[in-house]
Amino acid sequence: MPNEGEQVTRRDLDPNEIIRLVKERYRVCRYMFVVAAIWVCGGALLYFLWLGFGYQNTHIRLVSFVLQMVGYGTFSIAFAMQLALYRCPICDSFLARRLKDKIRCPRCNAQVRASA
Ligand SMILES: [Zn+2]
Repeated sequence: MPNEGEQVTRRDLDPNEIIRLVKERYRVCRYMFVVAAIWVCGGALLYFLWLGFGYQNTHIRLVSFVLQMVGYGTFSIAFAMQLALYRCPICDSFLARRLKDKIRCPRCNAQVRASA
């Protein structure tokens, strides 16, 4: 069969592969939230610097505003990516962070994490 290699279905993933896939997706979103937090904190630091300069240098105020806006933009992208990526590799149901059982998927009961 010519397309034999492509006929691997999602059900054929082995348990370790599922855990690895979920871990990688969580990692992507975690780093996006960290980067967003760094932008916002950088903007806040510049804002306090501006206050320390006695409200004189308006360029610092502008740069601080821009840094914070980039941060909030990154936060909203990270949120959307979380909705898209925090999903079970087998049944595609959403794996919310607040699940009672974080180890197993609520719909198909596949193990998605090694530990809670
Ligand atoms: Zn599932």
